[in-house]
Amino acid sequence: IQPVHVIGAGMAGSEAAWQLASAGTPVILHEMRPVRGTDAHQTDGFAELVCSNSFRSDDWENNAVGLLHEEMRRAGSIVMQAAEKAKVPAGGALAVDRDIFSGAVTEALENHPLVTVERGEVDRLPPEDWHSVIIATGPLTSPALSEAVKGLTGADELAFFDAIAPIIYKDSIDFDICWYQSRYDKPGPGGTGKDYINCPMKKEQYAAFIDALLTGDKTEFKDWEKNTPYFEGCLPIEVMAERGPETLRHGPMKPVGLTNPHNPDVKPYAIVQLRQDNALGTLYNMVGFQTKLRHGEQKRVFQMIPGLEKAEFARLGGLHRNTFINSPRVLDASMRLKADPRLRFAGQITGVEGYVESAAMGLLAGRFAAAEARGAQPVPPPVTSALGALLGHITGGAEAETFQPMNVNFGLFPEIEPPKSPDGKRLRGKEKGRARKQALTARALRDIETWLKGQEMAAAE
Ligand code: FAD
Repeated sequence: IQPVHVIGAGMAGSEAAWQLASAGTPVILHEMRPVRGTDAHQTDGFAELVCSNSFRSDDWENNAVGLLHEEMRRAGSIVMQAAEKAKVPAGGALAVDRDIFSGAVTEALENHPLVTVERGEVDRLPPEDWHSVIIATGPLTSPALSEAVKGLTGADELAFFDAIAPIIYKDSIDFDICWYQSRYDKPGPGGTGKDYINCPMKKEQYAAFIDALLTGDKTEFKDWEKNTPYFEGCLPIEVMAERGPETLRHGPMKPVGLTNPHNPDVKPYAIVQLRQDNALGTLYNMVGFQTKLRHGEQKRVFQMIPGLEKAEFARLGGLHRNTFINSPRVLDASMRLKADPRLRFAGQITGVEGYVESAAMGLLAGRFAAAEARGAQPVPPPVTSALGALLGHITGGAEAETFQPMNVNFGLFPEIEPPKSPDGKRLRGKEKGRARKQALTARALRDIETWLKGQEMAAAE
């Protein structure tokens, strides 16, 4: 069997290499550290955690990232095995000692007979005789390789920073206050003229909101992030507010071309618009609301917006240096680059966000490449699983026009009818929410088990 080349031994590349080797496929793992560093990594270990030491909630019954942990455990993930060895107390979260964690991943890969490690930067497109390649070079992909990838995807499909506006679960929005309408009722391509959700603001509400934006606690740009050219295309909302109290009212919050059906005679002073973020229509992003406000502050300030008082956030906003491709446009369903199917992408560079999500995409890319290496068709996991929902989002479910990196969350899953209470009545409120999540996670684990069994049988054939 020809070896598969994996570029980058971070969260995704390490997991991809492990899955390949575990399936009996030889791997050449290319890692540029310590020959060349990044602005964030400190060591030459594999799967280095560059910031927090947490993999977030480990509650697989009620939390989407906890579910992803559990699915990855069942799929033999090296990241989850190493996390188990390196676990430190963190309540309901899975947190690790970063050195023990990285050490365990490095040791497992370096000692695997099918893994060859090559230290050095891959600074151009992989040569023709690398028949199968996984590019997992992460948010800080070296500039030379980024340029080479840009040559294949086109400049518009490779971003160098993310500018994430908060994303809200539609079912947490108050439609006694908000309404659906596109500005001037114009249907966009494929739209209906009712494509946005609108939240109206009175003058005093707007003034209080601007004040909260200006005084809210913000995160600073790191020194090496300051040179990233984000500012002209998409200013953080608080930077716009600093330019003058009326700036937002003439920008993303302009109240024109919209009529509030709940109160048609009163013209709102300002309007916040939310745009559909996924094909399922369960998630909406706040248009123009990319922000450096701290996460706790974002909830407090954005819940001041009429209709969003009880908003639940699938993702909070942020602005970071981050290299990622427009996966919904450029990748196929098994993460291959449409322009050169010999190349697969995995990890944060595919537009997922977070350690666990990055490793999860490495797990899938590794399994897909292993299936191909033995002459079989890669079979994606069911969309009802966390692995499948996340993959489905980046390879098709997300809106390509506004694509920004995404965490795993329940808004990515196909809906399910929550079970009724034992007396047959419909559940309400928190009880309903919990029952829904547990129904989603039970379905996910059942379906992922079936998929994993199918994978085992296909490999044995
Ligand atoms: P990485 O883990 O970065 O791995 C990529 C690897 O590729 C690196 O080892 C790099 O050295 C190597 N490489 C790059 N270019 C080349 C090349 N040309 N040739 C060979 N090797 C190359 N997520 C969280 O969940 N929690 C956090 O707290 C968090 N903090 C973050 C802080 C920063 C500063 C950044 C940039 C990201 C953070 N993330 C965080 C997001 C993301 O989850 C991590 O970056 C995660 O490590 C991504 O995994 P990855 O495998 O895609 O990339």
